Amino acid sequence: MSDGVAIEDVKTQFDRVMDQVRGRISKRQYQTWFERASLIRWAENHLVVGLPNRFYQVWFQSKFSDLVREAAESVAHAPAQVSFEIVSEAAEGSEVPLAERAPESSAGHDERAPEPLTPRAHTAPPARAREAYPAPFAGSGADDLPLRLNELYTFDNFIIGPSNSVAHASARAVAQNPGRAYNPLFIHGSVGLGKTHLLHAVCHEFLQRFPQDRVCFLSCEEFTNEFVRSLQRNDVDSFRARFRNVHLLVIDDIHFLKDKERTQEEFFHTFNGLYQSNRQIVLSSDAAPNEIPTLEDRLVSRFTWGLVSQLEQPEMETRMAIVRRKAELMHIDVGNDVVEFIASNFRNNIRELEGALLSSKAYADVTGTPISLKLAAAALKQNLQPAGMGVTLDKITQLVCDRYQVKASDLRSKRRGRSISEPRQVIMFIARKLTRLSLQEVGDHFGGRDHSTVLYAVRQVENRYKTDPAFAASMERMVDRLGGNLREDS
Ligand code: ADP
Ligand code: MG
Repeated sequence: MSDGVAIEDVKTQFDRVMDQVRGRISKRQYQTWFERASLIRWAENHLVVGLPNRFYQVWFQSKFSDLVREAAESVAHAPAQVSFEIVSEAAEGSEVPLAERAPESSAGHDERAPEPLTPRAHTAPPARAREAYPAPFAGSGADDLPLRLNELYTFDNFIIGPSNSVAHASARAVAQNPGRAYNPLFIHGSVGLGKTHLLHAVCHEFLQRFPQDRVCFLSCEEFTNEFVRSLQRNDVDSFRARFRNVHLLVIDDIHFLKDKERTQEEFFHTFNGLYQSNRQIVLSSDAAPNEIPTLEDRLVSRFTWGLVSQLEQPEMETRMAIVRRKAELMHIDVGNDVVEFIASNFRNNIRELEGALLSSKAYADVTGTPISLKLAAAALKQNLQPAGMGVTLDKITQLVCDRYQVKASDLRSKRRGRSISEPRQVIMFIARKLTRLSLQEVGDHFGGRDHSTVLYAVRQVENRYKTDPAFAASMERMVDRLGGNLREDS
């Protein structure tokens, strides 16, 4: 769309975009979200959509940006960029500090396209992401750029559990004892498990202790871009000079070096320079050093000189604690049932937990009701498999105990009689069908039974379900009351 288009034309065009959107989502979704969307401007192939508040903005960025962009492109017959701005702050509810989050440096560039709530969704467009990403340098020097760290990514806000305690402790140690504890510190783990959070936390703590020192925090992508730019400008020397006086160098997502020979080479020299003068280096990656494809051997070996620690997927308790902390930080009021529900259904990625919480909040905001289990289930429906039931282990336990006339506390005991073992097995079976809890997590609920016990129970019940019609009917009634359906996914 060119700049010369008259205002009315732009409005009409925007209406056509909205028409297209309407045809591609449910009526209810359209009413909930798009009726309050407006045109701010559309020029030079950049459509800016106005939204009433930040929840809408977050929601649109994570859920609807592709949809709107595609609609705009088809109306304009040209590639389009879309962004979302808040038009009336007055409508905004409680302050949610989400915009302060440093978006992932690689948003939009990362082929693995991880990110927020649904696997299909995308984060904010890369241009915005870079805006908010911390500028590289900080410290006392006059020519420094400010280092903008996410204030929420501190050690205090990092929940510790068995999955991350080693990485957390080692990050703390290097912040307190830079150049001496472990050098380099290499933290790896899959997406959304807290690497960037820990790296920011190291910078915060380091700067608190050594306010005069210089910190450089870069995504590997930024490092690469800067380097390439210096090559183009024929000015590699000043690129190098920037790192010479750094006391703490933190590079996020170092796996981005793969397939970039010249940048690897350059990084090798940067690394050596700093290492030799005992400057602390902290790196994060989505894979262990020797699992980053095409990474030069000499870098692989250097990355393991200090300490390599891994972030693993958090356990149920850790996830629940994280949801609680995030809710606190975002001033979101949620009950334990909702916390448990979210923690049991979003297991692999902490960013998803956060997204789930936020979606529930956005939904509550729009519908003007408090966040209940039912509301959270409705809000997260499309992100859940099997389809959106507000089912928790406690709910299942209650129902099954009612049905079998037993006490929940008996089920957790070691008792083996049939009157106890049958309901126990039934709960395990239903939990596996209707929640995303792992075998182990279900086992933990029953006083630490191991995953093979749960697996055995699930098989027992499955067999009986198939061969005993009365039992099957009773199971179906229970599952039905929980809002699920046994036939659907079997
Ligand atoms: P990664 O860089 O590994 O992809 P991030 O550091 O961006 O992951 O973390 C994703 C989100 O999860 C962030 O909002 C972060 O604050 C949160 N998070 C991760 N681990 C924890 C934790 N242990 N406690 C609290 N929040 C966490
Ligand atoms: Mg990250």
